[in-house]
Amino acid sequence: MANNKQNLTEALKKYFGFDKFKGDQEAIVQNVLDGKDTFVLMPTGGGKSLCYQLPSLLMEGTAIVISPLIALMKNQVDIISSMSDEGTAHYLNSSLNKAAIDQVKADILAGRTKLLYVAPESLTKEENVEFLKQAKISFYAVDEAHCISEWGHDFRPEYRRIRPIINEIGVAPVIALTATATDKVRTDIKKNLGILDAVEFKSSFNRPNLYYEVRPKTREVDKDIIKFIKQHSGKSGIIYCLSRKKVEELAEILKANDIRAAAYHAGLESALRSQTQDDFLMERIDVIVATIAFGMGIDKPDVRFVIHYDIPKSLEGYYQETGRAGRDGGEGLCITFYAQKDLQKLDKFMEGKPVAEQDIGRQLLAETAAYAETSVCRRKMLLHYFGEEYTQENCHNCDNCLHPKTKIDAEKQLVIVLGAIQALKENFRSDYIVDFVIGRETEEILAHKHQNHELFGAGEDYEEKHWNPVIRQALIAGYLKKDVENYGLLKLTSAGKKFLKNPTTFQIVEDNEFAEDYESSTEHEGGTSALDPTLSAMLKDLRKKVSRQLDRPPYVIFQDVSIEQMATDYPMTLEELKNIQGVGEGKVKQPYAKAFVDLIKQYCEENEIVRHADLRVRTVAKKSILKVKIIQAIDRQIALDDIATAQGLEFEELLDEVEAIVYSGTKLNIDYFLDEVMDEDHIDDIYDYFADSETDSLEAAIDELGQECSEDEIRLVRIKFISEMAN
Ligand code: ADP
Ligand code: MG
Repeated sequence: MANNKQNLTEALKKYFGFDKFKGDQEAIVQNVLDGKDTFVLMPTGGGKSLCYQLPSLLMEGTAIVISPLIALMKNQVDIISSMSDEGTAHYLNSSLNKAAIDQVKADILAGRTKLLYVAPESLTKEENVEFLKQAKISFYAVDEAHCISEWGHDFRPEYRRIRPIINEIGVAPVIALTATATDKVRTDIKKNLGILDAVEFKSSFNRPNLYYEVRPKTREVDKDIIKFIKQHSGKSGIIYCLSRKKVEELAEILKANDIRAAAYHAGLESALRSQTQDDFLMERIDVIVATIAFGMGIDKPDVRFVIHYDIPKSLEGYYQETGRAGRDGGEGLCITFYAQKDLQKLDKFMEGKPVAEQDIGRQLLAETAAYAETSVCRRKMLLHYFGEEYTQENCHNCDNCLHPKTKIDAEKQLVIVLGAIQALKENFRSDYIVDFVIGRETEEILAHKHQNHELFGAGEDYEEKHWNPVIRQALIAGYLKKDVENYGLLKLTSAGKKFLKNPTTFQIVEDNEFAEDYESSTEHEGGTSALDPTLSAMLKDLRKKVSRQLDRPPYVIFQDVSIEQMATDYPMTLEELKNIQGVGEGKVKQPYAKAFVDLIKQYCEENEIVRHADLRVRTVAKKSILKVKIIQAIDRQIALDDIATAQGLEFEELLDEVEAIVYSGTKLNIDYFLDEVMDEDHIDDIYDYFADSETDSLEAAIDELGQECSEDEIRLVRIKFISEMAN
């Protein structure tokens, strides 16, 4: 054995140039060499590839590596081929031409090919199966094995066909490797690959150097992110968004704020994508804004932060993505922005999918929500999710541990929950149990006639939001467990049964509160910067003066929201003024615009106001597609009612949009339509009214003109007026 050990280390040195094995690598390699089935759970960057590459070079025949990442195959193959003279590596996928395929086949039959990378789609092709039957297979390696399970974060149906294909090609030992797998996923993999007896090598999921934090997602999220990046300027980071559209928008906003950023998603051309990857690796750009497509196989060791702009769909995904930070063991800040509204959006997305898939998707989502809302140590939560117990009281490296909440007693509540679960024969999930204990007569409860159960409503003295933390923290504390076969059904553990008979103290921390809707959440939060009342008053005075000079109402000069934002952000140049809400190109060209920025500049100098440069977020023109379409249609002089119909809007809704467009500073000419639908007198009356009025309020105008003119007419002329006078 000692001899053998030495041999393996020598082989490691010879082929890979490494001096020693990392983690469990050596034991894993030995296990494969011994011809045993093997299951490897090792974090990203842990060195999984070597676990099959090294034995393949030492064994007779060809090892088949099944991997979903076609892009990486070539790369891997090049590396391996350069390492050994005796054998070589190949890949088989849809990108190869006939001649290349023939070469690969010849090498395999001649026994020269030690490693053959195949995508699962290629493996399942009849002709390839037929061919591989003739080859001598040393073993099969299934990389990214979590793809087998619907409960993983990257389910691929073709992975489910691997076992039958292996049986056809010829049975040999199997090694399955993955970086993320809950107990449920692990069981799925082993069952499906038929390797229930595999020797398991499981590394810890703990990444002590990663800092986890969840922040409320407010309307200020872009600003928060820019501020964060500026505080960590020059460092590499990745921002994950769920949609391509958001990826592009956010990348634009970052660039507009002098951050070296680029967008990355699967919809971009592949040349551009590899350029972006390269730029990131070479540090020509600091920040990548990406969908989850980015990062697989990218090995940049010093990514210093990973930001989740949107809540991920599963904790597996979250773990993978955050895992790309701090691979070198240095700083790795993982910040997630969370709003319940986003959950509802994701939930809605699932509606079109098959019921079983929806069910799984919702449960995975519920786990992410639990993680986001909890006040328990994030590391503990995350590790518990992956079936690992974290025993430290305080990890000192997550938001909840740095700002611990006071624990409250929940012994009584736990008795109620455990009692209910037992009484209902351990046949229900968390949501159901909560409904049951608070006594809510849902359809499901009625269907089971549980409203008549003696324990129904046993916990009605406590609010609903109180119960989720009780259940989750009972899971973490080991009083409850989720069934693996029927995922999600709550079962009592033996500790749980004991507790029920003989309750002891049980303390929990209540969840963090998150607003449901991030539009309104900023109101009580007050944002990051405050309105300067003195300046605001001065600007309003100036507005009055200009209004008198030009004989136009004040709101036509600048609306109140614009003044307020000026008194918050202190724009000192016309260029900066454009970033103010309601100020478009047209407004900046007005002769009076200069007077406003000059006033602000002078005010700042006199009062020695230091602007927080990093807080002034420049926005990019991001007119919604709808607004752009409306503007184009109006330019083509299409009747407004036809535009509404074409866009599936009520006429009033269209007016809302058009108003929003002109109020944000874009000029629109709707005369062609007014001339068509209104008589001239009415137009003039309404126009004159607004020219003399102190306010653009619709109610006030209706009070004054309501006898002769309809609300729509008033709104239409107001649009004309604002567009002509203000923009
Ligand atoms: P995984 O697939 O687990 O994410 P990889 O197999 O891609 O990880 O390996 C990650 C990195 O670790 C690679 O750069 C690899 O060369 C390196 N590595 C693997 N094993 C060792 C070792 N024994 N010593 C030093 N570096 C290693
Ligand atoms: Mg890998």
